[in-house]
Amino acid sequence: MSEKFDAIIVGAGVAGLAAAYTMAKEGLHVIVLEKGQHPGSKNVMGGVLYRQMMDEIIPDFWKEAPIERPIVEQRFWMLAKESVVQTGYRGMEWSQPPYNNFTVFRSKFDHWFASKCVEAGALIICETTIKECIIENNHVIGVRTDRPDGDLYADVVILADGVNSLLGKSLGYHREWRKDEVALAVMEELKLPSQKIEDRFNLDKGMGATIEIFGDGTLGMVGTAFIYTNKEHLSIGCGTLLSEMSKKQVKPYELLDYLKQHPMIKPLIAGAEPCEYYAHLIPEGGYKSIPKLVGDGVIVVGDAAQFVNGIHREGSNLAMTSGRYAAETVIRAKKLGSFNESALSYYKDLIYQSYIAKDLKKYKNASHTMETNPAIFNHYIPAANKVMSEMFTVDGISKSQKQKLAMKHITKERSLLRVAIDGIKVLGAMK
Ligand SMILES: Cc1cc2nc3c(=O)[nH]c(=O)nc-3n(C[C@H](O)[C@H](O)[C@H](O)COP(=O)(O)OP(=O)(O)OC[C@H]3O[C@@H](n4cnc5c(N)ncnc54)[C@H](O)[C@@H]3O)c2cc1C
Repeated sequence: MSEKFDAIIVGAGVAGLAAAYTMAKEGLHVIVLEKGQHPGSKNVMGGVLYRQMMDEIIPDFWKEAPIERPIVEQRFWMLAKESVVQTGYRGMEWSQPPYNNFTVFRSKFDHWFASKCVEAGALIICETTIKECIIENNHVIGVRTDRPDGDLYADVVILADGVNSLLGKSLGYHREWRKDEVALAVMEELKLPSQKIEDRFNLDKGMGATIEIFGDGTLGMVGTAFIYTNKEHLSIGCGTLLSEMSKKQVKPYELLDYLKQHPMIKPLIAGAEPCEYYAHLIPEGGYKSIPKLVGDGVIVVGDAAQFVNGIHREGSNLAMTSGRYAAETVIRAKKLGSFNESALSYYKDLIYQSYIAKDLKKYKNASHTMETNPAIFNHYIPAANKVMSEMFTVDGISKSQKQKLAMKHITKERSLLRVAIDGIKVLGAMK
């Protein structure tokens, strides 16, 4: 038998690297196997990384990690064809160390994170695809790679292999995801001088902003579009449920082109040069789609476990926390000397006691409610724009008359009762 590890981690995304770092720091013998050329080469993110969850793995990481900009402002846009209703928050507390969130480029960030794992003692092997788990008496004991003589063995295999998780599927931990359980997201990096970014987004030097866009940014489909500021790039992208895209017969790149041409967005990106294009799936099934998380000798983390909170644009943090929890579980299991499902179920306890499962449970019906009530995106958002336009137009019409007009816009082709039911449904999905 070839060399045996305490843990094999499949996938060098933030979930796998969080697991690797945490175990290596405790002296465990761990190996990460990644099919990409280097960690980060296959990973796509709009790019907001959450400080707290990364700090829990490497304290003060932001002092040396390749971050782009600390985010001091988060804007939310309800976009109509030629207008936008805006809200958001900007806070000076976010411009001071230790900051709140950062934009990052995953190609650089994961590369750096991987180097910290190696410093801590982990082995990372790239350009290696895991074909299957090796199973003996229903217990996962290792992995079969695409390399000659490429079987590797470990007490535990951690599946951090991302949204499709073919390995989780082959173990029977989840079925093929339905089209309403995954979103297809596309994004571009646009190069723009930092001074221009700061002028256009009203930012102090080095600081960043995010814009989440609902409504016309996805042509009224369930999903979001976004613009994030990096040092010398803007990230612009959009994603909708695959089921929505195939219903509407919209191609992802057409959606992105539409977004870039939108009159509210065009001036923000004017003159910016496209330099990278990405397309990637995002798990959106939420709480109800969480697969089997542990088995004898195996743990599933990050996107592979459907740990994405689409309502709050959170994924990297859930990935990092779940990776850390998996590592803590393996460290504990090693002390107990048992790696069966019962010993590894400690991971499930950590997940279900944490913000990960609690937040996913809170929004367990959100995506379905939005998909089955398209008016949320394609009726109320345009109506809100009309109402605001009329309210802010000073034209001699009395304010009480304007309030009546507002009501008319909201109830156009929808009865008051219908509006009330829609409101109850939305509140129900968010409670
Ligand atoms: C367009 C877009 C924008 C996003 N924006 C944000 C955001 O702003 N903030 C946020 O927090 N989240 C965001 N997310 C979600 C976030 O990117 C994911 O939740 C996060 O990357 C999950 O990390 P992970 O390590 O679980 O998976 P991944 O980063 O997908 O890593 C999985 C790794 O496994 C490797 N792999 C897969 N199969 C194998 C195999 N058989 N053998 C070897 N290696 C394998 C892959 O190459 C990959 O490197 C966004 C996602 C997209 C697509």
